[in-house]
Amino acid sequence: MTQRPLILATNDDGIEAPGLWHLAEAVSHFADVIIVAPAFNQSAMSAAVTLRRDLESERAYSRLPGVDAWQVNGTPTDAVVHGLRHFAPRHVDMVVSGVNPGPNVGREILHSGTVMAAMQGYLRGLPSVAASLSSFDDDHLLDAAIVAGRIAERLLASGQHHLLNVNVPDLDISEYQGVRVAAMADMAVSRVVDITGEHGSTRRKLEFLPDVDVVPDTDVAAIMDGAVAVTPLHNDFTLYSALSDTSTLIGDRDSLTTERADARADSDVN
Ligand code: MN
Repeated sequence: MTQRPLILATNDDGIEAPGLWHLAEAVSHFADVIIVAPAFNQSAMSAAVTLRRDLESERAYSRLPGVDAWQVNGTPTDAVVHGLRHFAPRHVDMVVSGVNPGPNVGREILHSGTVMAAMQGYLRGLPSVAASLSSFDDDHLLDAAIVAGRIAERLLASGQHHLLNVNVPDLDISEYQGVRVAAMADMAVSRVVDITGEHGSTRRKLEFLPDVDVVPDTDVAAIMDGAVAVTPLHNDFTLYSALSDTSTLIGDRDSLTTERADARADSDVN
């Protein structure tokens, strides 16, 4: 008998978040699952790594029979890396992250703990899926988990090692306006709002913009139209079209890296 694939499920909202358990259950229909997730909400932590304190982890209560769960007192990236190294009982075949309440589309992806947790799988050569719901309500988390689970199953069956960012509209699954493979919109969908406290302190929160000029044929356009958005992502930030320009503006490289002694002698930093 061939062994079932093993999927590591995580999120950025913490081990208690219902979206994580819905997603883990959805993928458990075709794979064995282990859950390794942050102990507390780590939304908007992107790919942060905990370096200057101990990373503690412990077994967590599992809401799914046959699924082992651990919580890590760190970031989503910590949870995936630690989970792959220390908690996986055998080779992990896929990483899934979510379901996040709130969309991870457009430039929101840069902040996203949900997406960057899946990125950790991708960077290690594993097919990975990040799943988010376009609403902060919990009503359609189960629907989102079901469709994300089906997409994960197809990705795994394909043998491709892609990172798929899945965003699901806030609708019943029967009401989705199709599934669109679409590019990440190069646009902001939220802004950081400062809330000043009594003593002059500032608390920040992310607020989604009510009116945005939607870039057509993108992830944002898809979910605004009620469709599921599926976007393959990668990790290379290089602007290839600017390599040549940059080479020209840098000019003579040798003079950038000579005469260190003179520069040090003139320095006022002490
Ligand atoms: Mn979150």
